[in-house]
Amino acid sequence: MTSPYDEELRQLSALEARSRELQEPAEVRREWTDLAVEFVHGVVDGLDERRAWETEGGAREELLALGVPEEPASAATVMDLVEREIDGPGLQPASGGHLGYIPGGGVFPGALGDLIAAATNRYSGVRYAGPGAVAVENLMLRWLRDEIGLPKSAHGTLTSGGSIATLVAFVAARDAKGIRARDVEQSVVYTTSQAHHCVAKALAIAGLSECVQRTLPVDARYSMDVEALQAQVAADRASGLTPFLLVGTAGTTDTGAVDPLNALADIAAQENLWYHVDGAYGAAFALVSELRSKLAGIERADSVVMDPHKGLFLPYGTGAVLVRDPAHLARSHGHRGAYLQDITDIEDEPSPADLSPELTRHFRGLRMWLPLVLHGAQRFRAALHEKHLLARYFHRRASALGFEVGPEPALSVALFRWVPPAEAPVEEVNRINADILKAVLDDGRVFLSSTRIEGRFWIRAAILCFRTHREHVDHVLGILERVTQEPRLAWAPPAPK
Ligand SMILES: *Cc1c(COP(=O)(O)O)cnc(C)c1O
Repeated sequence: MTSPYDEELRQLSALEARSRELQEPAEVRREWTDLAVEFVHGVVDGLDERRAWETEGGAREELLALGVPEEPASAATVMDLVEREIDGPGLQPASGGHLGYIPGGGVFPGALGDLIAAATNRYSGVRYAGPGAVAVENLMLRWLRDEIGLPKSAHGTLTSGGSIATLVAFVAARDAKGIRARDVEQSVVYTTSQAHHCVAKALAIAGLSECVQRTLPVDARYSMDVEALQAQVAADRASGLTPFLLVGTAGTTDTGAVDPLNALADIAAQENLWYHVDGAYGAAFALVSELRSKLAGIERADSVVMDPHKGLFLPYGTGAVLVRDPAHLARSHGHRGAYLQDITDIEDEPSPADLSPELTRHFRGLRMWLPLVLHGAQRFRAALHEKHLLARYFHRRASALGFEVGPEPALSVALFRWVPPAEAPVEEVNRINADILKAVLDDGRVFLSSTRIEGRFWIRAAILCFRTHREHVDHVLGILERVTQEPRLAWAPPAPK
């Protein structure tokens, strides 16, 4: 007698045999792990010899040809692809020679945190499912809160980066200030031309792009002009608008400038504005007691964004937002599905899912906690202090080489440009500076980037990678010194025809 279900059972066992292969045998798992770990040690051990900017290679043929195969590719082939076609060319962000944009980090225990988080696949969205994972994240947030001096009641969430952290903060601000769709056109946001573009992006995503957006002037140090802010708020009130959100920056991306955070806090308090501080680049310098005063006033913010994947040297994918009154975060983000009914709230250990747009998410806390506990906080403080002093050293030395320099670095970004002795058209000066940047990139040992401020081309040295030390800065200075000897820097007006 055959049952009509026999065929189904046969199919089931055939599928089971295939699907069980997803749980690879322990010795295969160890072999894969060994290959990956060997590769990673090779990368880290070889960083000193490697260029920060690699233009060689770049073929993607084998990667694209492999595509997604139906049957397993050999581990050796795959690791070879990782090494040659994936990790190979481009900017090497883990290098101490990375002095472009805002450098990242990659402290090694962060990678171990990711390995453990991924292998255990711990659920960090709600405390009920992962009490340890949620406790680690909350511990990290409380530590950040205490380092920047927010009150004990403040809390927040770890995000994938500063841009998403900003979005989370703005949504909370919008709801806290009761801004409904019909109010948007009357509501005013204040920031400067030096604010990061994620501010405009987050406003747009939060449905606030039709707000009146005031771009306030900056002073000679590229910090917000407080009197202009005061006057603008008064003028906006007089014309019937509703000032709503003030965005200060603690360390701008372009110049590293810190807005006058205390003065901004005073105005925000007087005018009943939500006070947001973008500390994605700079807030980590609060870890250094000697530099803490530069960030004075950050602790008065309603919301602060930090980016541990910048200033805490973590691998990419870790941002943070802290909110003075986390009830605002919960109001904007605390939604519950019926299928989550077993979850009980625990006030003292809030669940990330209740304070952010995410539900199922990466267990980010572990990649932050492991480096901090395995190294201890003191090493991070020392590294940040070193970066600040390196930026000042670079600034002083570049000036001595005859470069025009920007303001003395408030944190760890220095600006410089070459201005020829004879008065030259702006475009000519910009071209010379683009050439100088190219000379640095052609050398490849270090990577710098540039910006344009009021039409002028500036080269930036942004010092934040934990592996950047004086030898890297001296290497840049060496290239600059060589370039200054070159005739192309001595611009002369064209001879009359
Ligand atoms: C990097 C940066 C951001 C954006 O953060 P991401 O982590 O890149 O999303 C925002 N503000 C400032 C000042 C930054 O330097």
